[in-house]
Amino acid sequence: MNKIPFVDLKAQYHSIRSEIDAAMQQVMEQTAFIGGNNSFVQQFEQAFSQYLGIKHVMSCGNGTDSLEILLKAYGIGTGDEVIVPAMSWISTSEVVSAVGARPVFVDIDPVYYTIDPSKIEAAITSRTKAIIPVHLYGQPADMDPIMSLAATHNLIVIEDCAQAHGALYNGKMVGTIGHASSFSFYPGKNLGAYGDAGAMATNDDRIAAVCRMIANHGQQGKHNHIMEGRNSRLDGLQAAVLAAKLPHLKQWTLLRQQHAQQFNSLLQHPSIVTPQVSPSGAHVFHLYVVQVPDRNQLAQHLKEKGIETAVHYPVALPFLTCYQHYQHTSEQFPVAASFQDKIISLPMYAELTMETIAYISEQVKQLI
Ligand SMILES: *Cc1c(COP(=O)(O)O)cnc(C)c1O
Repeated sequence: MNKIPFVDLKAQYHSIRSEIDAAMQQVMEQTAFIGGNNSFVQQFEQAFSQYLGIKHVMSCGNGTDSLEILLKAYGIGTGDEVIVPAMSWISTSEVVSAVGARPVFVDIDPVYYTIDPSKIEAAITSRTKAIIPVHLYGQPADMDPIMSLAATHNLIVIEDCAQAHGALYNGKMVGTIGHASSFSFYPGKNLGAYGDAGAMATNDDRIAAVCRMIANHGQQGKHNHIMEGRNSRLDGLQAAVLAAKLPHLKQWTLLRQQHAQQFNSLLQHPSIVTPQVSPSGAHVFHLYVVQVPDRNQLAQHLKEKGIETAVHYPVALPFLTCYQHYQHTSEQFPVAASFQDKIISLPMYAELTMETIAYISEQVKQLI
């Protein structure tokens, strides 16, 4: 077997090379790199809003900016609290601190790994303004109880969809269930650009307009800065790449789901916990994460066999050094605390073959 990478962006590029090259060529011919009325950016925003079935898609520089811009657009800042899951990429909590608010962590569900809705209410205080559920690894968070808690306590729900383009919750596209949502198009995401890119989505006209303003220096029309904003733009080249890739997303997602099913059946073993799909959700398997007794030993063994793995994430958010001033304890987040030491992410991308999945599974079982 050749070396098996964790993600194979080259294989994807080669499978759609003529489309990508033609799209990028067009942008360069028109030198349509940046600009308020960039037609490539507008076309992608429109295509993505149609894909989601949502009124507004506002593109921006990356998925971290999109979360932060949304928090600002909802007026969240100093003195406020925002509830986030204990297991995610740091962007989810980092943006809360960036606007001056405090991230309040809630443990994850032991079976589905998304924020545990039964533990949210205890974390709500008079300062709580919003909840950011994360559709972690591509599995939709349990949105129904989250939305009803939010209604009861008058909270904003911002979905972090960075790992879950196209995932469904009770038949609904994630990113259309909360008040607004955030997407990342980082190259390795299920829909990835060839550089940094992100977007916000909402059905709320006012929030859409405020987000656009914040991302564009607070301008309402040229040189009319009604507030201070920032520069966070999707550029023409990235927009053209994303527009060329979007029509393939459905097929790529289907393949990821098939690969996950094959892994699940080949990895049946009393010492391996394979991912379970919630009955309300259609998981899009951005990551294929299993729990094993000795994660580090398995990673070493697979590395020797030429199989690349990763860990998402080795330290749960509450326990990161940057949050040690909050003095979190593992008793507060028992699920995340034990989960972080057992997880390992196996290679997962549409271009994986059945033979490769069989080989990886065989190597995993050899060690367990
Ligand atoms: C990737 C990711 C982000 C941030 O996206 P960037 O485009 O890298 O800024 C935010 N949240 C989650 C859960 C992510 O996986």
